[in-house]
Amino acid sequence: MDISWPLVCLTPFYFIFPFYTLDDLCFIVKLIKKWFVMLLHNSPLLRIYFGDAKDKIFPDEYLNIPPEKNLFDIPTFVKLKEAMRLDRILFPLQVHGVQGFFVSSKTHAKKSKSFTTEADFLITNSKFTGLGVMTADCLPVVLFDTFNQAIANVHAGWRSSVKHIVLRAIDAMTKEFGTKPEHLKVFFGPSAKVCCYKVGEDLVEQIEDIELIDRVVQRRGDDIFFDLPGFNQLLLESVGVKPEAFKFDYNTCTVCDDSFCSYRRQGEKACRQMTVVSLQ
Ligand SMILES: [Zn+2]
Repeated sequence: MDISWPLVCLTPFYFIFPFYTLDDLCFIVKLIKKWFVMLLHNSPLLRIYFGDAKDKIFPDEYLNIPPEKNLFDIPTFVKLKEAMRLDRILFPLQVHGVQGFFVSSKTHAKKSKSFTTEADFLITNSKFTGLGVMTADCLPVVLFDTFNQAIANVHAGWRSSVKHIVLRAIDAMTKEFGTKPEHLKVFFGPSAKVCCYKVGEDLVEQIEDIELIDRVVQRRGDDIFFDLPGFNQLLLESVGVKPEAFKFDYNTCTVCDDSFCSYRRQGEKACRQMTVVSLQ
């Protein structure tokens, strides 16, 4: 057997990358994954897309779609439709509140136009129905009821989080599908994290009565930093979501990592990343 062919194939790489180490290889693989696979969580029952700044989505564009067009007329959403095998997609008009709604085939017909119905979470048990939220530092939280095959997508900024929006989403899932917290898997998307998420005393006052507050509020000098995903994890654990149910793989800090949109870093001109989840 001729064993020289791998050497022949790899030699050009050694010329291109003369100081090629295992760390370099890991970094390159990570980079390739980031650019080509994107942040797509894919399992037989569930697909989740965690977008980033490369999608180039701006509120001015998606809030002003002409009535004769729909989201699937915009190239970014066409790509998403194919990657996630979506029949339909719906985004709420986010208002930093705690309300949400059930996307059934009936309600979808009534509320079929994205960004028109005020809400900060959506739930469904219909397959190939994309539930979307837009964020730029706020936390996207995907809840997956593994027993009843139902999902929620929650837009959990700090305002909605301190009003316990994740628990309101579970209440809605329990009402519609009989969801129990112990059957949930929880995926946190990209958000501002405790390294960068400086907040005011007013936020701390609103959560002072929760147990384990020290786990989610850090004081550094005169500044206060808030652990938004950690706070939502505390809330979810308090109603019986299991500690092993939480997936933090996609929870990158949007402020530190400039491949994401960040209101803190980019200000008024910040782009948005979308998180879309669908049952398969
Ligand atoms: Zn950070």
